[in-house]
Amino acid sequence: MIAAEAQGVATKGFATHGPEAKFGPFEFTRRSVGPKDVLIDIEYCGICHSDIHQARAEWEPVIPSIYPMVPGHEIVGRVTQVGGEVTKFKEGDVAGIGCFVDSCRECPACTTGVEQYCIKGSAQTYNSTEMDRQTPTYGGYSKHYVIDEKYLLNVNATENLEGVAPLLCAGITTYSPLKKWGAGPGKKVAIAGLGGLGHMGVKIAAAMGADVTVLSTSPSKEQDARKLGAHNFVNIRDEGSAKNAVGFDIILDTISAQHDYNQYLGMLGLEGVMIVVGVPTEPIPLNAFSLIGGNKVLAGSLIGGIPETQEMLDFCAEHNIVADVEVITPARIEEAYDRTVKSDVRYRFVIDMKNA
Ligand SMILES: [Zn+2]
Ligand SMILES: [Zn+2]
Repeated sequence: MIAAEAQGVATKGFATHGPEAKFGPFEFTRRSVGPKDVLIDIEYCGICHSDIHQARAEWEPVIPSIYPMVPGHEIVGRVTQVGGEVTKFKEGDVAGIGCFVDSCRECPACTTGVEQYCIKGSAQTYNSTEMDRQTPTYGGYSKHYVIDEKYLLNVNATENLEGVAPLLCAGITTYSPLKKWGAGPGKKVAIAGLGGLGHMGVKIAAAMGADVTVLSTSPSKEQDARKLGAHNFVNIRDEGSAKNAVGFDIILDTISAQHDYNQYLGMLGLEGVMIVVGVPTEPIPLNAFSLIGGNKVLAGSLIGGIPETQEMLDFCAEHNIVADVEVITPARIEEAYDRTVKSDVRYRFVIDMKNA
């Protein structure tokens, strides 16, 4: 028995072996289920834009790409085994895994529940290593995951789990800054960019009670924006329309293409804040006057800690919020990547791992 456990959990996934390589089946072994570990059968995994950046080595040298790489950090599945000391989960529970699976547990970030900012660097769900800094981590484009219960989230839903999966990254990435900067009744919130992140931002800001405007360069998205819960839509390429985009309390900038921060800061009202969550590949020039006039704030935000991610999942369950998704088989990962890069998806691809 002990010998068999020491061999770990054999599983299958889909990996890429280099920046230009195609995805293919990949057999590997997860660690054995330890006393505090939970084994989940993965049912759905979202395709996040950061999967594409890392699979294609576009963030090097800042974030090196480790191959073979099994991406995926928007994971929902069912618990099939728990270790002897696990208290939060039992067999059959629906559970979620987000962008990290461990951290040092001792630093000021970890002890205050913002483990994503772990001073020693948290263990990312894929393209990373466990905290031993040796064992590679493989993500959710796979059949199973073994994770310490401390880093596993409770999902209080049994249906539409494909729509829940993207909450684990896109949902928390938008929920955390909207909450921190006070989105709610009486606040004018603009969501810049209507992609995977932006469409979650619209739903969550609207559910928080804010007056929501979508700032977009694609007039064709107006109908969608309103359907998602936006009250206003501004085509910022149209001067007449853009004139109305002023006085926002909060702008959530989800745009990952090159764009002019100064233009968007100009749309903030007095003491407004613009939070950057999109990651353009090149640096963007900033004019100091864009901040000085109007006492404005330019902020950043990275996903959320475990307690806040749980809070976000519960908030979304209460408000019936899921992502709008297109479910695909693993055979279509390449196609999904190309279409995501072209913004040709409404609004997130999710891989069906249950039937893979
Ligand atoms: Zn992500
Ligand atoms: Zn830490």
